[in-house]
Amino acid sequence: MESILIVDDDINLCTLLKEELAEVGYDVDYVNNGVAVFDFLSRVKTDLVLLDLKMPGMDGFEVLKELQDRNINVKIIVLTAYADVKSAIDSAKMGASDFISKPYDFDELLITIRKVLQRDT
Ligand SMILES: [Mg+2]
Repeated sequence: MESILIVDDDINLCTLLKEELAEVGYDVDYVNNGVAVFDFLSRVKTDLVLLDLKMPGMDGFEVLKELQDRNINVKIIVLTAYADVKSAIDSAKMGASDFISKPYDFDELLITIRKVLQRDT
């Protein structure tokens, strides 16, 4: 079973999305802040991270940078209400595989997740 970590300060989004993704067969967990990502990834095998950009404290861009700095190799889809071309380009430069805007369309998100998980890198 492929495993997904949701990183978002919006707890309602985390619980809903966890349920939706679990229903289609993924093993899903979530954390509500950027700092918690690194402890989680050090403990739990994770195939994909769904990462919010706008979070209090450590934001999504800082998480992307820290993942690069620590050479942590995990696939990332950025999921954010602040969808704009610049954020998409910036997050791609920092290692994100794809970009989905909130409020998300679940079918579109699922297609993107499957596509990213199928890639070799
Ligand atoms: Mg947020």
